[in-house]
Amino acid sequence: MGALRLSCLVPLLWLMGCGGPSDPVIQRQFFAFGTLIEVTVADVPPEIAEPAIEAIEMRFHALHRQWHPWEPGPLGDLNLAFREGAAGPMHPSIATLLDRARPLAEASGQLFNPAIGALVRLWGFHDPETLHGPPPEPERIRELLDPFPTIEAIEIQDGMARSTLPGLQLDFGAVAKGVAVDEAIALLRRHGAPHGIVNAGGDLRAIGRRGDRPWRIGIRHPRQAEVLASLEVAGDLAVFTSGDYERFYEYEGKRYHHILDPRTGSPAAGITSVTVVTEEAATADAAATALFVAGPEHWPEVAARLKIRDALVMDRQGVAQLTPGMKQRIRFELDPPPPVVLRPLP
Ligand code: AMP
Ligand code: MG
Repeated sequence: MGALRLSCLVPLLWLMGCGGPSDPVIQRQFFAFGTLIEVTVADVPPEIAEPAIEAIEMRFHALHRQWHPWEPGPLGDLNLAFREGAAGPMHPSIATLLDRARPLAEASGQLFNPAIGALVRLWGFHDPETLHGPPPEPERIRELLDPFPTIEAIEIQDGMARSTLPGLQLDFGAVAKGVAVDEAIALLRRHGAPHGIVNAGGDLRAIGRRGDRPWRIGIRHPRQAEVLASLEVAGDLAVFTSGDYERFYEYEGKRYHHILDPRTGSPAAGITSVTVVTEEAATADAAATALFVAGPEHWPEVAARLKIRDALVMDRQGVAQLTPGMKQRIRFELDPPPPVVLRPLP
């Protein structure tokens, strides 16, 4: 979460190029995946935009139910079966998620690892009710990482899934929103709407243009309620951010956040937010998480392995680390801008 579509009501940004009041833009909001989803459609009449948005809303609600790891439903039931050491039915939409996630998990060296659901639960990041300290005992963390869980441990046969590792739990929270946004964009196009944005709580994919101008996207500052930078999108691009401010608690003066390093079992240190820009939302989502976990030194190596060219990393020192591609794309809106370090990809 972290990209905001810049509102045309902000005077400065209006001057910077938002459309006028006659812009034919239709916008709807609804809640799904625990966040506000906003769909914006440009340049088509309501007869096309409205059914497209309705289809997207229904799809988001269905996916929310199917992909929730801890509530009754296809994924929640499968996790329950795994906890009991049993096999469970592999729902087609979970199979789709697994297929999307597998190459990303592998390319990231399992820094993006949807098989660490039990660890997420142990830390309490799965439920607002358990979002408090103290952090888990190191011994309990170690138990969940040895043997190391990956989605490769899941065997599927005749429509049934079984885990070869006891206690493996699936949590697609780091990629599901991206996969859903990609599906929503496909729905927009199928309904004949080639210009629009699907924004899931600040993570978005934009296609086409807004009238005769590109879409203008804001990236939020990880520590201030302000726009850090902006970029223009004309064509088809996803902008996804992972940040330590999205879900966290403080315990004895220390911040514990929801992006866990599967190598240590604890919150990944050294970065406050990562924004990735690439074509597909699923890739952008998983990559933002993976780069966050890789840390302030090594993230360019992981970006290269995931074929991400455009990334912005805000490190703990407040330095904006940028790939050369991202430097071309963004403009800092903060005054003064943060210190910048260029990080070429290996
Ligand atoms: P995101 O906001 O996309 O970075 O996703 C964070 C969410 O994904 C967390 O709330 C967890 O449910 C889950 N998660 C945390 N750490 C990881 C990780 N290293 N790999 C995969 N999923 C993770
Ligand atoms: Mg993610």
